[in-house]
Amino acid sequence: MKNQSRRKFIRQSSAAAIAAPFLSTAVTRALAQAGEKKIGFALCGLGNLSTNQIAPALQKTEHCRLAGIITGTPAKAEAWKAKYNIPDRSIYNYDTMSKLADNADIDVVYVVTPNALHAEHTLKAAKAGKHVLCEKPMEATVEKCQPMIDACKAANRMLAIGYRCQFEPNHLECIRLAREKTLGDLRIIEAEFGFPIADPNQWRLKKTLAGGGALMDVGIYALQSTRYLTGEEPILVSAIETKTDAVKFKEVDESIVWQLKFPGGVIAHCSTTYNASARGKFMATTDRGWFGMDPAFNYGGNRGKRSDGQDINQPRVDQFAAEMDDFAQCILNQRPTKVPGEEGLRDMKILAAIYESISTGRSIKL
Ligand code: NAD
Repeated sequence: MKNQSRRKFIRQSSAAAIAAPFLSTAVTRALAQAGEKKIGFALCGLGNLSTNQIAPALQKTEHCRLAGIITGTPAKAEAWKAKYNIPDRSIYNYDTMSKLADNADIDVVYVVTPNALHAEHTLKAAKAGKHVLCEKPMEATVEKCQPMIDACKAANRMLAIGYRCQFEPNHLECIRLAREKTLGDLRIIEAEFGFPIADPNQWRLKKTLAGGGALMDVGIYALQSTRYLTGEEPILVSAIETKTDAVKFKEVDESIVWQLKFPGGVIAHCSTTYNASARGKFMATTDRGWFGMDPAFNYGGNRGKRSDGQDINQPRVDQFAAEMDDFAQCILNQRPTKVPGEEGLRDMKILAAIYESISTGRSIKL
């Protein structure tokens, strides 16, 4: 676009955006078509994940930019402002999120707070007219998930859950092998993800903030892998738990093993832990071979293998950058995300069934 017509276009677009907020999606799309719009992300919660993964990943995206922050810690606001050149008007705390409505630089709020705050922050963002990318697990309880979906729908905004592995090329290649039956029909999946949790005082060990322990935090990756490899929803779940440290894991689960049955006949055996050596892999056995990944769920360096010796491994990507670029494109092109709130809710219901199986000692039909 030539400079003059670009200026005219931006002037007209800005005027339209001010005069009629409901036009902003069309303006966004038009700017995107002109190659000039990057989706502005505000990170809500500046803890480990935002600091060490998401903010650096944003710098690697094609369609996104770090446009704002929401934090309860003034010192972090100062540090991020200096590091990422964030203007004062795009710095919020959790109580001022309604003011996001006046900030056209911010299109998406990425919710990266403890699990039990996801609904509160999603609702605030949606009410301010922002799209929401919310970290996994969707919330701390099943009950708090539907209002998140409803709030985003009511605001005509998109909601996606941060399932980064669904944007990782080796996982996508494994999904392709499963769906195209390249190595035969899937029969059995084994999946596990766990690590020894250190700090005994962190929110992950507090039920009110986390909702659950290892299962909600990392077991969810193993569960996800069984669902996206089969492309089906489980119909039966059974689970057992062990707690070897009743003090540290007073409020949340320590180690769980669970089994799932899928309608097409596949069965899965999964495990998770907060109190054993770090482990994260899956193996899919078919009627005439196998394929899998080990490690499978790390931020980088995940490796795949298949029984016929062919190479699974694809060029590496930053999973968070890929996830955010995909969400940006969903917004720009008005196409649905493959990881909507409904996907997060489905997992939450299965996690609840796993806990129910543990507490009742019975298999649970889904
Ligand atoms: P963290 O403890 O490092 O950061 C949490 C942030 O929330 C901190 O900045 C903290 O100040 C803020 N916060 C606001 N209110 C709080 C409160 N009442 N109590 C405690 N902290 C509060 O946690 P994290 O590892 O960044 O995890 C944040 C979210 O991201 C969680 O939902 C987690 O499950 C998810 N996560 C996802 C991945 C992934 O690979 N997709 C990896 C790690 C974490």
